[in-house]
Amino acid sequence: MSTGIAVLGCTGSIGTSTLRVVGRHPDRFSVVAITAFGSADKLEEIRKNTGARFIGLVNGDGQWSGANSSTCDRESGALCLVEAATHPDVDIVVNAVVGAAGLEATIAALKAGKRVALANKETLVMAGDLVQQAAREGGGEIVPVDSEHSAVLQCIGGRPLGDLRRLILTASGGPFRGWDAERLAGATVAEALNHPTWNMGPKITIDSATLANKALEVIEAHYLFGLGYDEIEVVVHRQSIIHAFTEFVDGSVLAQVGYPSMELPILYALTHPERVSDVGVKRFDPVACGDLTFESLRRDDFPAFALGVAAGRSGGTAPAAFNAANEVAVEAFLQSRITFGQIAVVIESVLQAHSGDPADDLKTVLDVDRWARETAEVACY
Ligand code: NDP
Ligand code: MG
Repeated sequence: MSTGIAVLGCTGSIGTSTLRVVGRHPDRFSVVAITAFGSADKLEEIRKNTGARFIGLVNGDGQWSGANSSTCDRESGALCLVEAATHPDVDIVVNAVVGAAGLEATIAALKAGKRVALANKETLVMAGDLVQQAAREGGGEIVPVDSEHSAVLQCIGGRPLGDLRRLILTASGGPFRGWDAERLAGATVAEALNHPTWNMGPKITIDSATLANKALEVIEAHYLFGLGYDEIEVVVHRQSIIHAFTEFVDGSVLAQVGYPSMELPILYALTHPERVSDVGVKRFDPVACGDLTFESLRRDDFPAFALGVAAGRSGGTAPAAFNAANEVAVEAFLQSRITFGQIAVVIESVLQAHSGDPADDLKTVLDVDRWARETAEVACY
């Protein structure tokens, strides 16, 4: 019997790669439910190609061009994400939504006992403990799609988490790896969107340029693998060939290696712990890779990284405040309302004003998310 898949955010970068991977395994997977934010035409085209039975348009007002409501179930509004994620025919939810909007669907899917193939790292950053609690209560499981975390999971290979001593996540360093602080402060939107090794959606591409993405990933790793922040390190590796180093208690270090493509981590998140034959993933050639280099992160020049890790260490609602402030600042930068250098300034001002509550329930987290967005918006003007 084929495995039913929901692809939340099917029109984006990870969503598109997921459909490509799933499309190569028609006997194994069937796309049951798909959602997008506002790309109605693209969503309709994906429905036709996949035969999805549920389609959800968050910003749709119930309107789809050329829609025929007899062919499938069509929903609109933010709740459609939860409906798709808990659809009875869905076994695996690929959460490829960008930002905080993905949180409630992740929790709902886990409570309903589904596997969540999680690209939406913001989910774990905002409410890591609540997400883990939902998985325990509902019997669901989280399998990371993020390449560094997929690498760690593959290196762990079924060993208990207690065998882990330290993780070293790699960072490409983004487009500004060699830039000095003065040049960085005035970097343009086009320059920041020009990522050297990965082709991704705009928000994560900017996060990679500020290194806020690596802070989000450190927090994500903390919640996925249960290590403290002193045991999760980052090294700049500009070729993006080694995705993470995983150190075990006996001192052995395993690394997962491959070209920078999200298709393998996506496939692995769908099949874990099994491996299936796939002809689409480019075969590895070490000689063609050339030299692999490793260097320290320039923390002082990329302050968003340290701000994010400090928020992770504070715990409670601080990571949710960091995430929300970052989302607002990135959007303001993309709209040329603030400079590149001001992204971290906005985040810092929000974290300084944040009072630091325990993240005991979803309402508290969502309240902090809302407060941090409002505070960050004010800081952007
Ligand atoms: P994209 O911007 O390319 O795609 C985002 C998707 O989410 C689109 O389908 C979009 O729909 C939908 N969407 C946007 N806003 C909302 C909302 N408010 N509610 C519901 N759906 C929404 O992003 P990426 O694919 O690059 O990233 C998705 C997630 O995966 C992020 O969390 C990112 O950090 C993570 N990730 C991405 C990687 C990559 O290589 N791209 C690598 C590792 C992690 P529409 O098209 O209609 O706007
Ligand atoms: Mg990553």
